[in-house]
Amino acid sequence: MSTTIMRHPDPATLMNYAAGCLAEPLAAVTAAHISMCGECHAELAGMELLCAALLSKAELVPIGAAMQVPCRPADVSSCEVARSLIDAGNKLPAPIAAAFQLSFETIRWKRLGPGIWHHRLPLSPGVGGDLRLLKIGPGRVMPDHGHGGSELTLVLDGAYNDETGSYRRGDMQDVDETVEHTPVADKVTGCICLIASERPARFKSLVGKLMQPWTGM
Ligand SMILES: [Zn+2]
Repeated sequence: MSTTIMRHPDPATLMNYAAGCLAEPLAAVTAAHISMCGECHAELAGMELLCAALLSKAELVPIGAAMQVPCRPADVSSCEVARSLIDAGNKLPAPIAAAFQLSFETIRWKRLGPGIWHHRLPLSPGVGGDLRLLKIGPGRVMPDHGHGGSELTLVLDGAYNDETGSYRRGDMQDVDETVEHTPVADKVTGCICLIASERPARFKSLVGKLMQPWTGM
């Protein structure tokens, strides 16, 4: 686990995850961050104890139970897949690698526009929201946008900056409908991130609005 992660989910997001009430796409990104972050892993353990006490449950909810992520005792085969992918140098967090049987090398990127690619990750039937991997070329700017609800972004490779600061591997940005931002990928490395939203983003620019029906974001 990294010790250099500087940006973490909002405590309310972690608490909702511990209580099992985070929407599936948001839970996926939160689980991925927790798998990379010792600080949040420890914090979650405390929150699960609190939730268990509040709900007077005899058994604790295991980490990752809030969504269909592996690395629970019943998912031994998925855990083995995840470990083999990580051992092979996979930069995808274990919960995502195992749940979607993916490695960085097997992602089928689709071009969204100049210097921007994505790979959508399927959600459970009937679940709303959006979960996808996004690859932004060096120095590329994402259209400025607001949000219809919560949006979580986890950096997997490279870095990006926006009005709130810089984000590197393992860092997670947790924003709601009050935030509008314009992420710019690092000029040298570009950026690959895992991004989840409850509802479609609200693009302000004409380019963003024109792209939205095509991208589904
Ligand atoms: Zn963290």
